[in-house]
Amino acid sequence: MIEVRDLRFHYTGSEFALHIDHLAVQSGEAVAMVGPSGSGKTTLLNLIAGVVLSDTGKIRVGKQQVDAMSDAARRSFRISGIGMVFQNFELLEYLPVVDNILLPLRIGAGLKVTDGARRRAAELAQYVGIGDKLQRYPAQLSQGERQRVAVSRALLLQPPLVLADEPTGNLDPSNKGLVLELLLDYVRTSGATLVTVTHDRELLSSFQRVLDFRDINQWRETAL
Ligand code: ADP
Ligand code: MG
Repeated sequence: MIEVRDLRFHYTGSEFALHIDHLAVQSGEAVAMVGPSGSGKTTLLNLIAGVVLSDTGKIRVGKQQVDAMSDAARRSFRISGIGMVFQNFELLEYLPVVDNILLPLRIGAGLKVTDGARRRAAELAQYVGIGDKLQRYPAQLSQGERQRVAVSRALLLQPPLVLADEPTGNLDPSNKGLVLELLLDYVRTSGATLVTVTHDRELLSSFQRVLDFRDINQWRETAL
């Protein structure tokens, strides 16, 4: 589902560098990514999703060559092909919860909000325990509730790939389990692929594979 080859990336004016020789994630796999803060986990998710572009190298997601697409093509591929849970949630403060969950349909070209989508949004919210908060605004939610809005949004369009950046980071133990189960259940039943960054060591046994960023990122060798 994901194949990364000879990837190199740096931020302008920053010493940080990412260098990945080869990384492959198979369709249907549930993979956890771990590694120290600042090691580039969020950056890699953004590269896979085409939010940022690599300096060199190839990134394939499904049949799409992410590095070779136009900005517009990458954007629509991202909206309908990838469910992203951002580390900072990216909720729109002026929209109530239900419309934040429905956001992919509101911003995707040629997509529209249907009754079925509203039902799915409500079901997802119900599952993660915020079903009674659909009309609230993000400012009226706790961090953990905001997190669960972000996870519900990522699954709305039943994407073939879910990229989740510390989706359990702000949750108490019971909600951690709930959110993780929702994500894992989703990939089990749909055959979708999941890549999750996490610092929760106790959750790692639920994944088929754990990728340690210290082993993936070759930047230290390159820097010598
Ligand atoms: P992680 O998610 O593993 O904590 P990140 O991918 O967020 O790491 O960041 C990797 C490194 O890149 C860090 O040193 C961070 O400070 C730097 N960085 C992240 N975003 C930017 C940016 N927009 N501009 C410059 N440097 C950045
Ligand atoms: Mg991060």
